[in-house]
Amino acid sequence: GGWIARLKSGLARTGNQITDLFSRGGKIDEDLYEELETILITADVGMTATNALLADLRHLVRERRLSEAEQLKEALAECLLKLLKPLAQPLQADTHKPYVIMMCGVNGAGKTTSIGKLAKYLQGQGLSVLLAAGDTFRAAAREQLMTWGERNNVTVIAQQSGDAAAVIYDAVQAAQARKIDVVLADTAGRLTTQAHLMEEIKKVKRVIAKALPEAPHEVLLVLDANTGQNALSQVKAFDEALGVTGLILTKLDGTAKGGVIAAIAKAHPIPVRFIGVGEGLDDLRPFDAEDFVTALLG
Ligand code: GDP
Repeated sequence: GGWIARLKSGLARTGNQITDLFSRGGKIDEDLYEELETILITADVGMTATNALLADLRHLVRERRLSEAEQLKEALAECLLKLLKPLAQPLQADTHKPYVIMMCGVNGAGKTTSIGKLAKYLQGQGLSVLLAAGDTFRAAAREQLMTWGERNNVTVIAQQSGDAAAVIYDAVQAAQARKIDVVLADTAGRLTTQAHLMEEIKKVKRVIAKALPEAPHEVLLVLDANTGQNALSQVKAFDEALGVTGLILTKLDGTAKGGVIAAIAKAHPIPVRFIGVGEGLDDLRPFDAEDFVTALLG
């Protein structure tokens, strides 16, 4: 379908480099490993995951007595798949009612867009959705969410003033009263370096638990794949503050190098619930490791 093509074109640069390297022919030698190392690092895989992947690859090469460069592509695909597969754990939003999803991320990551896409995805699964306009810092964010809700027939709980925790608390209670299946709670985008904002988002999480024990059932961090290794520090900071249970990796259709997903798999193996492959409402896809590796290596 169209989205695989977009994912593929987003990852094309890296994919082409790897394909060119292996299809040049010749024997597997140190130069080849070195070039592959450079490609992986340029693709945002990062040192740690690159070293791990190469060690795994060398191991496979020895074990299977591979000697030709062109045999490496399949072996690399296997190593990548082994690394990424544990991340492919779909969101299961029907295990509690209401199922409360707390969204977080830095500004511009694609949080608002992803909320819209996610609401549509969940409705497609036959689940009713309620949005909580917990981004109380930007009036525009609230307006954006309300307009979106009206257009798509989704209830949005918002307040003119008040803090995020209060809005989301109300939303969880409203969802219980109205027997809604899923609450999508937006929070203000923030920089992980803003200590007071990180304290505030922790408070939001505590207050959600007061409204409904065990909630939030999912803390979803939205990451822009283009931010490269920076995405790793975001995972670390939000995970320390909130305990992130799932990731949405956006903009993989763009100029993203995509390798950051491997870096995450190595450093913070948190499930990647979805990937964003475009600006449209249907451009959110459950993460599938096979699809990803195929898009990358062909
Ligand atoms: P927020 O500040 O985190 O709420 O970010 P927004 O949801 O407003 O998104 C910022 C920009 O990124 C917007 O122009 C979105 O259309 C765009 N965007 C979000 N997700 C994707 C994606 O998966 N692919 C592409 N190409 N653009 C995206």
